[in-house]
Amino acid sequence: MKILAIFPHPDDSHLNAGGTLARWITEGHCVVSVCCTAGGLGTLSGEISSAQLAAQRTAELRAADAVLGIAVTEMLGFPDGEGMDFSSLRRELVRCVRRHAPDRVLTLDPWARYEIHPDHTLVGRAAAEAATFACFPLLYPDQIAEGLSPCQPSEIWFMGQLGDTPNTFVNIEPWLNQKTEALLHFEATLATLDVLMSTSKSPRSFVATEELKQRTRHWISELACRTGKSAGLNAAEAFIVQRCAPGHFDNYWEQQGPRLGEERPAPRIIR
Ligand SMILES: [Zn+2]
Repeated sequence: MKILAIFPHPDDSHLNAGGTLARWITEGHCVVSVCCTAGGLGTLSGEISSAQLAAQRTAELRAADAVLGIAVTEMLGFPDGEGMDFSSLRRELVRCVRRHAPDRVLTLDPWARYEIHPDHTLVGRAAAEAATFACFPLLYPDQIAEGLSPCQPSEIWFMGQLGDTPNTFVNIEPWLNQKTEALLHFEATLATLDVLMSTSKSPRSFVATEELKQRTRHWISELACRTGKSAGLNAAEAFIVQRCAPGHFDNYWEQQGPRLGEERPAPRIIR
């Protein structure tokens, strides 16, 4: 399979799906990383310029992708945190889907409740639309005239803060060390991630000290462990997977069933 991971900031896919990406590569699938911004806003330090930060974070993403075995990393160059132009983003992501013709798209869930970051909701939404609309030849016909073909990925996997109960858990136990090693490359954002994820807070530092890295290792493992618990796994990542149809997700009964009092189907557990 060919899998297209589309995410807004350099650390998003490694944080939310690094173990699953490593697993897919081990299983022989091809993964392409598409990062919509270079993350030039993502620091609380006043001692680095946006351009320097963007360069550092781009290099960190390439290094982290190399740890997982991702051979292709594309940067789309949209601005970070300003609320990117949705129609330009959607057009570019449809082009990406048509260029790579993936079987599966991975992105952030744009319907997550209390998700405040505009890049997370905009990129998730545009990637979801790209996965379901790139099949229409009359959409952006200039791309078709250039020689690209309409394309219909079969599935989209939503990661991150999910807007509904996960319907898929992936066992990442054998890949947890690889995920950790990859995530530790994101030195520019380790302090911010630590504030978000660590339960044992200590004074904030912008330097990726050994102590900060040690705490990072701890919360990565705790996150995987807590995510896996309800699925009976020691370490997991959780997703909402939707099957793609032209202009829709093929999920009518999955959505309607629980509203009609039917029991929600048990989540798929990939052991
Ligand atoms: Zn992000």
